[in-house]
Amino acid sequence: MKSRLEKIDDRIKKAACSCGRDPGSIRLVAVSKTMPVGKIQKAFDSGALIFGESYIQEAMEKINVLSSTTKSVAWHFIGRLQTNKAKYAVKYFDLIHSVDNLKLAKELSKQAKKIDKIQKILVQVNTGEEISKSGVYEKGAVDLITSISQIENLSVKGLMTIPPFYNEPEKVRPFFVSLRSLADTVEKKNLSNVHMDELSMGMTGDFEVAIQEGATLVRIGTAIFGNRN
Ligand SMILES: *Cc1c(COP(=O)(O)O)cnc(C)c1O
Repeated sequence: MKSRLEKIDDRIKKAACSCGRDPGSIRLVAVSKTMPVGKIQKAFDSGALIFGESYIQEAMEKINVLSSTTKSVAWHFIGRLQTNKAKYAVKYFDLIHSVDNLKLAKELSKQAKKIDKIQKILVQVNTGEEISKSGVYEKGAVDLITSISQIENLSVKGLMTIPPFYNEPEKVRPFFVSLRSLADTVEKKNLSNVHMDELSMGMTGDFEVAIQEGATLVRIGTAIFGNRN
């Protein structure tokens, strides 16, 4: 586990240096969905600081078990989020990467208000316009974010995307470029409670390209934990 994490750290540093970025501006989200608590504990003990989960029920059970032995860890929700689970997402997660509609944003706001929290979120963008994927289409993103900016108890920290799958990372580059360009457009609008500090993009197969195009959060599962069953 330790050597896997070290190798990834190395690759993140190299990718950052290849384009003149500060490696410290990129954070690793260790995607631990489907992984047992023992493996997550090991990754934490080996230096992982942020974990990404995709299923609320599974995540709650694991976080409850791990909360006493993984202090200072941050949990990020990266999966599809149903509105009726918003309450739990707000309770358990520091950052929610996958907000893509106003109804969900409003429910997150309502639940955050109840526990006196400002919930940090990213807006998920479906850059490839794939029917199978969540995310707002690029053309609707500015309107959605403008609406969200008017809701209390939410803080929009940036954008997230899961681009179409290709075996060749270079083919994914244009989708990362689009996400960054959209973030620039949004930033210029100067919306309240909206700051494009984070670009969540890049997974095991393509994170180096994502870093070259501006990723600040890379979500890596397989390269850390091995294949999921
Ligand atoms: C599973 C998942 C990942 C991790 O993918 P790997 O290819 O295993 O690195 C990243 N992001 C999201 C949204 C995921 O669901």
